[in-house]
Amino acid sequence: MAVTTAGRGRRRAVARGTGATLADRLEALERQGYRATPQRRAILAAVLGAGRINVSAEEVCGRAKALCPTVNLATTYRTLDLLKRLGIVRRVTYGDGRGVFCANPDPHYHGTCLQCGAVVDLPRGRIADVLEREQRGLTDPAFAVVGHRVEFYGYCDACRSAGRTGAIL
Ligand SMILES: [Zn+2]
Ligand SMILES: [Zn+2]
Repeated sequence: MAVTTAGRGRRRAVARGTGATLADRLEALERQGYRATPQRRAILAAVLGAGRINVSAEEVCGRAKALCPTVNLATTYRTLDLLKRLGIVRRVTYGDGRGVFCANPDPHYHGTCLQCGAVVDLPRGRIADVLEREQRGLTDPAFAVVGHRVEFYGYCDACRSAGRTGAIL
């Protein structure tokens, strides 16, 4: 959960889509003792700019370079690793196992596109409450459940728009 300084309605304001703003993220970075260099800014902006689509380090690098030409792949890997350690972005692996970066601080699940492999943030929905309740009930002396992961499959907007949706739609 992103922690922000005083501000009106901050909890709800970050509840949808891209979550907390770039300014919130930069503030979190500086609060933890790291300067918001132009490279770090560009890399964070690149992750956020992808909206609900989660992006790979290579994609982040390409987008960030357009904002700050001194960004390269090594800087991107290093910065994403730092942002991950600070809890500002999350690395998720779904579908073909490729790691992608998610900057949405709110609890949510992901959908993987069966056609192109895009990993997209899904609305939280009621299933989260059901699963969280179930999860607590699954702990017994043999195993303590502390988390779960759920992956939904489907087709992303780009693939649907292009008519690449396989047989089921
Ligand atoms: Zn797709
Ligand atoms: Zn996500």
